[in-house]
Amino acid sequence: MKKVPRGDTDVVVDNIHKILLVCWKDNAVVSVVSNISPVYPLESLSRWSAKDKKKISVSRPYLIGDYNRHMGGTDRMDQNINCYRISIRMKKWWCPIFSWVIDATIQNCWLLHRVDESNLSLLSFKRYIARTYLQKAEPLEGIGRPRQSSRVIPDVRYDNIGHLVESLGKQAWNCALSSCKSRPSQGCMKCGVPLCVKCFANYHRRAL
Ligand SMILES: [Zn+2]
Ligand SMILES: [Zn+2]
Repeated sequence: MKKVPRGDTDVVVDNIHKILLVCWKDNAVVSVVSNISPVYPLESLSRWSAKDKKKISVSRPYLIGDYNRHMGGTDRMDQNINCYRISIRMKKWWCPIFSWVIDATIQNCWLLHRVDESNLSLLSFKRYIARTYLQKAEPLEGIGRPRQSSRVIPDVRYDNIGHLVESLGKQAWNCALSSCKSRPSQGCMKCGVPLCVKCFANYHRRAL
């Protein structure tokens, strides 16, 4: 690659793992590996040529431009994660990796949430997630077995995603819809509550 003219590109594709290795000659050789960005369309850049003493047009593979456009993202992620990092002391060597994965996931979710939902701060977003889990874990009050619907948080119950009917095998508990008195033998897989077929839609519809 050192001998080829500026703008030349060499590509190797690993079709099994869907990985692209690209070497591109600019001032020096630039090597990039990608599993998402393509080589084409080539972009045209204007570069000063010391040899010709004038500006020349150099073509650049799309994924190298893509890298330049987004390389700040990793720094931003590190910065965001460092603001409110999970700090639990654990002895296992893999614990920091595990907690980092959670931090990184929350950071990514927060960015997606901000795209069109709100301008919630990262701290409030994390707090919201923590509260949601605490609510789910709250001990049930009173004697006997109350309706399990109290355990299902609204964000899950009304999200319209992945609520499927599953057979319970026994008719032990009351239907989760408070107005219903029957003991169904099936329920919602996601909410984990018993529900009659006729109550299923109603239960997942937010009352206006
Ligand atoms: Zn459900
Ligand atoms: Zn019912």
